[in-house]
Amino acid sequence: MEFKEIAAGCYYFNSAVNIGYIVNEDESKGMLIDAGLESSAAKKAVQHLVKKNLPITHLFITHAHADHFGGAQYIQRNFNVHTIAPSLEEAIMRNSILEPIYLFNGNSPLSEMRNKFLEAPSIRVDEICTEGIWDKTFPLEFLALPGHSHNQFGVSYKGILYAADAFLGSDVLEKHKIPFIVNATENQETLLKLKNMNIEGMVPGHGKFTKKYHEVIQENIDVHEKIATQVHSIIAESGDSGISLENLIAKIITQYNIQPANIGMYTLFRTAVSAYFIQLIEEGKAMYKIWGGKPIIFLGQ
Ligand SMILES: [Zn+2]
Repeated sequence: MEFKEIAAGCYYFNSAVNIGYIVNEDESKGMLIDAGLESSAAKKAVQHLVKKNLPITHLFITHAHADHFGGAQYIQRNFNVHTIAPSLEEAIMRNSILEPIYLFNGNSPLSEMRNKFLEAPSIRVDEICTEGIWDKTFPLEFLALPGHSHNQFGVSYKGILYAADAFLGSDVLEKHKIPFIVNATENQETLLKLKNMNIEGMVPGHGKFTKKYHEVIQENIDVHEKIATQVHSIIAESGDSGISLENLIAKIITQYNIQPANIGMYTLFRTAVSAYFIQLIEEGKAMYKIWGGKPIIFLGQ
């Protein structure tokens, strides 16, 4: 885990899941941006900040995925931090079993799904953020970046945007194959919003800080457009007989040569692929019928 300075007052710990850190002018307030997968990651980060005499007064969690707030309970137990999170996401952070519950279509999750990748320790949230400038003495700006998660937020400070999982770094985009999203339309809109920004650079949740964010975001847009086209083609090829949602998901997963190791991993891909078919239905380009006890998808008229 490497501690990197990006700009005056802007840092991040580069790891499998990045942890951001910003400090105000007089170094009286310091905010952690996300907390890593587990307490050991959070511990390493805060120990480093303590050693450097940097303040730890605030904790902002961008979205309620376990790999981003798994270390947050450790931070709250050991530091007096004011914790900020977006609405809806904060409800999941306070009741973290909701993540495996929604991934498992609302059922009580199988006990094997209650692991650190899908269910972080629950935390307290002190403040719900809204878009715009947050505090005059610590003039950072919160931005809504939905799509990867229902109400994900990023934070911008001194020309640097901590973009959470709104996009993946070039170095990890290929590895993910099908990036996780819950809403394809919002995801596209968020990517375009970021691409049109004019700032110094961006830190993704996974991958390296980049000044060439216009290029990296275009690579992300291309990946999503390719998957959307494939989903559309598979439905088109199914013709009048249509295709079940389960078979559509299976075709995409096998086309990408993905072998989910367990049901938890499968539910992540199922959710991501479903986002594209939901977009087609919402746009009137596809429709479904319940046939033989299951939803069958067809191209729209
Ligand atoms: Zn995420």
